[in-house]
Amino acid sequence: MLEIDGAKGEGGGQVLRTALSLSMVTGTPFRISNIRVNRENPGMMAQHLTAVKAAKAVSNAKVEGMREGSTELTFEPGVIGNGRYFYSVGTAGSTSLVLQTILPALMLAPGPSEITLEGGTHNPFAPPYDFLALTYLPALARMGPVVQATLERHGFYPAGGGRMKVDVQPVEELQGFELLERGDHVRTRARALVSNLSMTFAIRELDIIAQKLGLGAGDIHPESITGNDSAGNVVCIEVEHEQITEVFTAFGRRGITPEEFAEEALTESREYLASTAPVGRYLCDQLMLPLALAGGGRFRTVKPTRHAVTNAEVIRMFLPVDIQIAKLDDGSFEVAIGPQSS
Ligand code: ATP
Repeated sequence: MLEIDGAKGEGGGQVLRTALSLSMVTGTPFRISNIRVNRENPGMMAQHLTAVKAAKAVSNAKVEGMREGSTELTFEPGVIGNGRYFYSVGTAGSTSLVLQTILPALMLAPGPSEITLEGGTHNPFAPPYDFLALTYLPALARMGPVVQATLERHGFYPAGGGRMKVDVQPVEELQGFELLERGDHVRTRARALVSNLSMTFAIRELDIIAQKLGLGAGDIHPESITGNDSAGNVVCIEVEHEQITEVFTAFGRRGITPEEFAEEALTESREYLASTAPVGRYLCDQLMLPLALAGGGRFRTVKPTRHAVTNAEVIRMFLPVDIQIAKLDDGSFEVAIGPQSS
């Protein structure tokens, strides 16, 4: 039984989710304590609890401590299954984070799966659906499995109420890859989504972004989201190169002006646009786990976050891999994942 201190490094929910994903795939049971103890609202929240429930079902696990607010959990996985799964977070908690917890196991499951998740699809501090669809899943596709996501309903923070459906065609083994260059720039697009808010917000935000990034009228897309009771405003800047599309998102909130909001979206993308690295800060921490499961891979990235460093630590607890992070002369970083040397 692996003992994990949930307060390690960044100490967020990712420590728990990475442990769940790797426990399921490796069959290694674990006990985690101090789950999110340094957060304002310690212990498991609805999103983490839903991830545990989903992980339990997919891997036929025995679990203790599975309740909201719990700072301790024991997880003993059984055999990985496949099939149809439905989970509702019940709040605006991120559906993407629940999906990312069970996806590694389902990509290596004995057969295909269909997962329906309800909750938030566009939450601050989590991968928004657009990032999932344009950045994360295409990166996984390089590894063999076919994972197709459909956004059935947007779920904005704090109301939630979104739904996504994901089909997974698994493989026997994941293939590692190298992603060292972006390739030529294809295009940069900015999209502003508004739900139950005036389109003038979206148009103003996009005007500012277009001006700052030199985008033409064909590269900006204001979109009015219907079929959703809650108010929402999200701006995504999609930077497409031959080898990768990265998505940078800002999440609107009450009281923020379109000018301030546009500036937040630009700030999100600035580090990436100033670099030549193909992998942005969020994809960096999210790519390590699947590449470690594949046995290795290499990518060039902007400066790895504390999140990424913590994730690497948890991965090393479950898998015999080395994860090296080295700064290169041009200021970018190379992450190299490979078998542990002796
Ligand atoms: P906490 O315990 O801090 O409340 P949590 O369980 O919500 O956290 P974190 O541990 O903070 O989750 O992990 C969040 C994950 O979401 C990370 O993998 C990070 O890369 C990803 N993420 C956050 N913001 C974005 C974004 N704008 N685009 C893509 N991914 C994001």
